[in-house]
Amino acid sequence: MRYSKYYIPTLREAPSDAEVPSQQFAVRGGYIKKIATGIYDCLPLGLKVIRKVENIVRQEMNRAGALEVSMPTVVPAELWQKSGRWYMYGKELLRFKDRAEREYCLGPTHEEVIVDMVTNSVKSYKQLPLNLYQIQTKFRDEIRPRFGLMRAREFTMKDAYSFHDSQLSLDQTYLEMHEAYSRIFNRCGLDFRVVKADSGNIGGNASQEFMITADTGEDAILFCNDCDYAANSEKATTLVLNESEEELALLEVHTPEKKSIEEVAQFLQVDSAKTIKALVYKYLDIKDQTDADWLYAVVFIRGDYELNEVKLGNALSAKVLMLAQDDEIARVTKAPVGYIGPVGLDIKNVRVLADDSIVGLKNAVIGANMTDYHIKNFNHPRDFQFSEITDLKTAKHGDICPECQKGNLSKERGIEVGHIFKLGKKYSAAMQATYLDTDGKEQVFIMGCYGIGIGRTAMSAIEQSHDERGPIWPIQIAPFEVIIIPANLEVEEQRSICEQLYSDLLANNIDVLFDDRKERIGVKFNDADLIGAPIRVVLGKKLAEGLAELNYRNGQKEDVKIAGLTTYLCNIVKELKSVNSES
Ligand code: ATP
Ligand code: MG
Repeated sequence: MRYSKYYIPTLREAPSDAEVPSQQFAVRGGYIKKIATGIYDCLPLGLKVIRKVENIVRQEMNRAGALEVSMPTVVPAELWQKSGRWYMYGKELLRFKDRAEREYCLGPTHEEVIVDMVTNSVKSYKQLPLNLYQIQTKFRDEIRPRFGLMRAREFTMKDAYSFHDSQLSLDQTYLEMHEAYSRIFNRCGLDFRVVKADSGNIGGNASQEFMITADTGEDAILFCNDCDYAANSEKATTLVLNESEEELALLEVHTPEKKSIEEVAQFLQVDSAKTIKALVYKYLDIKDQTDADWLYAVVFIRGDYELNEVKLGNALSAKVLMLAQDDEIARVTKAPVGYIGPVGLDIKNVRVLADDSIVGLKNAVIGANMTDYHIKNFNHPRDFQFSEITDLKTAKHGDICPECQKGNLSKERGIEVGHIFKLGKKYSAAMQATYLDTDGKEQVFIMGCYGIGIGRTAMSAIEQSHDERGPIWPIQIAPFEVIIIPANLEVEEQRSICEQLYSDLLANNIDVLFDDRKERIGVKFNDADLIGAPIRVVLGKKLAEGLAELNYRNGQKEDVKIAGLTTYLCNIVKELKSVNSES
């Protein structure tokens, strides 16, 4: 490709709403252009990267035996009503009507459509297992679209769905997808970690996420320093210890104007891990179709832990969940805000839950349900028996690993690029999708589903590897592998060597950009930084000595003889590409 004929509308500066490096460079470098919140044009350079990611994904999905299909983005409401998700998915689902007043949505994920596709077509166990995938546009009316293609409203996803006649068969395909995903992200040149995940809106009971480790990641990951335990913080647990102190008698203490855990702990000279705090939430039940019937829950948790809203939402079967306001708290608990405690709490029709961190705790400080008073030496179950005790905390850095029970957990940030689920019968049962088993009996399909965000994967490569001047792409998904930059095209010798090199590289299937513009070399270098091709060939000063300057995007430099340059470059490209493409 000749730069003079290519379309790369670069900007001098990134727009002010570009918060993370990938968004800044993608917009500034002419990869994408925003047309509305969370909705982007993909320009030639951006599409080139996207297609490279898609090709890797497609090759590995095909290699794993999945079959490519294409499903519509516009989905009739009936399918979503049949699964029940029409009533639960909330505002992320963009719904609309056609001219005949029939209802539709833009598919944010395609379980319903695929179940409909196989219903009455896959009739026998003999046709199973079956794994179907597509690479297609999704729409989610995200509450907070941001970071460009990373959290867009319209985006491309590879979504696959598998059908089985046994759990064993699902386990097998799930494993194959796990392996395919590992190959995909390796081949994309990305560092990733596989973590246990919450199944969220999609459902099912086992799932793992593929996380690209990057400081700007929206997700937090906890992983063990001693074993291979790793989980999204939405899911991560920890070992809770039983203290062995002697249980002391309850003692009411005056804590004037001390409401927060920090204030109370400091005032009473105790560690916040020796306190129990109360949080009041309001929520909508997942089955509530009115979206108006708010319910309340009081949650008790050890003072040094943060409540995990994903876990609480699951425990309450809530589709919407938020902290209650002070006036609501006072009304629901009849206790003063900041002083709520389990002993003597007078509430009806409100769920009371406790995090399991309070179970082994001895002689803890709790609210006294009285302004300016707390109670010391609370012991469960001596002083209060919680009926609902479950894990509701966000595990933290330094906690003990729940798996090996000896290592400590560390925290890092990650970008979720892929998610694999064992769905089970959730959708097939709701939509009565069945096949005939070996005995000719009707059975509901067992399913798995597997997603990869294509744009998010591409952008996460920038998050993982860039400098202040632009992306440092892994060669596998770089928009170009090599850029040729002549110092001065007016010099005939430079021009002819460049032309020759350009056609030789093309003939060798190297993805090369020839910067044949009449621009200053400084401009060309800046643009080359934004394009981020791993290898930059500069032909200028050293030509007199028969040398080309190779400036690698990672900062390395070397001079190479013009004679044999094509072969040299082909070998380097091959070498760089081979790094992660084993298996
Ligand atoms: P998140 O928690 O980040 O919203 P999710 O759990 O909703 O993601 P899935 O439903 O598992 O995502 O979708 C599969 C994949 O699609 C994700 O792993 C991610 O790579 C991609 N994806 C999801 N939402 C978006 C989005 N708004 N923009 C770009 N990619 C997305
Ligand atoms: Mg989401």
